Amino acid sequence: MEGKSIAVAVGNLHKRFGALEVLKGVNLNALEGEVVSMIGASGSGKSTLLRCINLLELPSQGTIEVAGEKLKLQANRDGNLHPVDHQQLRRIRTRLSMVFQGFNLWQHMTVLQNVVEAPIHVLGISRADAREKAEHLLNKVGLYEKRHQYPAYLSGGQQQRIAIARALCMDPRVMLFDEPTSALDPELVGEVLKVIRDLAEEGRTMLLVTHEMKFARDVSNHVMFLHNGIVEEQGPPERVFLHAESERCRQFLSRSH
Ligand code: ADP
Ligand code: MG
Repeated sequence: MEGKSIAVAVGNLHKRFGALEVLKGVNLNALEGEVVSMIGASGSGKSTLLRCINLLELPSQGTIEVAGEKLKLQANRDGNLHPVDHQQLRRIRTRLSMVFQGFNLWQHMTVLQNVVEAPIHVLGISRADAREKAEHLLNKVGLYEKRHQYPAYLSGGQQQRIAIARALCMDPRVMLFDEPTSALDPELVGEVLKVIRDLAEEGRTMLLVTHEMKFARDVSNHVMFLHNGIVEEQGPPERVFLHAESERCRQFLSRSH
């Protein structure tokens, strides 16, 4: 190996919602600079896995490590693991930026305000610095000229590119994408995938949940196929897409083209 460090490591992760066990012992390792994609049918646990990594959802069991730091978690009577060190939780959360299927932009703020808000209030950088950085990132995603516009006036593809600029403005170590193109009209998917592809080529570490199989095959270093909360198949994209051992994975892929 090249001695690259681990960006995200998840060990034996379980998640239960009451009697329903949604993740049943998932392991995941992403090295710095890698793109790891998660594929699988709706309901297989992909979003829950991403949400557990940044503790938007509390895991029931298992370990989570981000940028070399293991999250301190403690079992509670509710059956979930809770963070015990809130300073650590804040620190780890700033290392992860998530992009959602539904963009989640603040509708009452302009594009620029959407992008500068968290860097100013969470990272504590000056408004002037945040603005400069935001303008640079908006330029990078091709939306500098829309910076004073409100999200409602923009297409879904434009809104998602702004959400990506907003995530980048936090200087995360790892980007988490949860089906970033699933809410878009087909003709707008390409412009968002292009931005994500550029990030992959720059060597950004990313965990990506997607239904865009060709894209996942092109950009990923590692692909995981989830089924009912279990990693049923995984490996380099060529192997998963062309030579999957799991019959279920092969069927899923044949239906997804
Ligand atoms: P995917 O992203 O692969 O479609 P999810 O992780 O969203 O799958 O969901 C996996 C399973 O967990 C589904 O059966 C879903 O209904 C269930 N689930 C997800 N979130 C919750 C929740 N907050 N409460 C109860 N069940 C949930
Ligand atoms: Mg999902």
